[in-house]
Amino acid sequence: MKNLSNISTIKDILSRHGFSFSKKLGQNFLVNPSVCPRMAELSGAGDGAGVLEIGPGIGVLTQELCAISDKVVAVEIDARLVPVLGETLEGFDNFKLINADVMELDLNELIEREFKGMKVVVCANLPYYITSPVIMKLLESKLPIEAITVMVQKEAAERICAEVGTRAGGAVTAAVNFYSDPELLFKVSAGSFMPAPKVDSAVIRLNVRKEPKYVLTDEEKFFKIIKAAFAQRRKTAANSISSTLGRDKAKVIKALEECKISPTARAENLSMDDFTALAERII
Ligand code: SAM
Repeated sequence: MKNLSNISTIKDILSRHGFSFSKKLGQNFLVNPSVCPRMAELSGAGDGAGVLEIGPGIGVLTQELCAISDKVVAVEIDARLVPVLGETLEGFDNFKLINADVMELDLNELIEREFKGMKVVVCANLPYYITSPVIMKLLESKLPIEAITVMVQKEAAERICAEVGTRAGGAVTAAVNFYSDPELLFKVSAGSFMPAPKVDSAVIRLNVRKEPKYVLTDEEKFFKIIKAAFAQRRKTAANSISSTLGRDKAKVIKALEECKISPTARAENLSMDDFTALAERII
């Protein structure tokens, strides 16, 4: 296995391939040697597991995943990294690269095709410019996966893993909690990356629920109400929902009262049960 945490090895590979980092694609590669083995191990990758990775970069996490699991399929948008990964992962016959934008792929079809009959986990150091859209796509697609272990910016990790109904929570907290049990695993300093970003990061694991914890007649409406309640989070939930969705404020307040929620509550005061009850009442 090449030492892909070694800065001179990385520089040598990248310069031979004429590669320069793209800020737009969120290319900050991990160079702290202790992070990838830990992340791979905590992700649930291992014997009998198939792993979907998003954004392998030069393959530093990928090679750890390949070393411990049955199969790794990585989706990388940047075509310039295809020959780089060909070199760095040479010798792993359980690796497959898909050169595509993860947001454009049908991931259910990909998992059915590549991992039939296997336990599947997702493990990735996500490009930060699309952290929430990628996480929401993975969860909303209702993929047959056990867990999603991802590196994200520290602030995003804290928001996602906050308790719903507390000040630290937001729309993404409630949305993620709908599908999974989130856990903050460990923090990673900005200096662990090349080039170093301005902020620290953290690895989180979303333990995907096999059975839904919350049963709703209209999931789409539930997410619309959460987003609307947090859209103007300094206002009361009633004000934020009525002005964002263009609903009559008196009717929103009536719905809140029917759910035994104070009409002056803010979105950050509402629990998952409050949101699910509201979604059944607001028309
Ligand atoms: N996994 C590598 C590591 O830890 O060093 C690289 C992580 S880097 C933060 C994010 C990677 O995601 C880059 O390789 C970037 O090109 C890729 N990427 C960015 N947008 C993407 C997208 N929409 N679909 C797939 N890959 C993407």
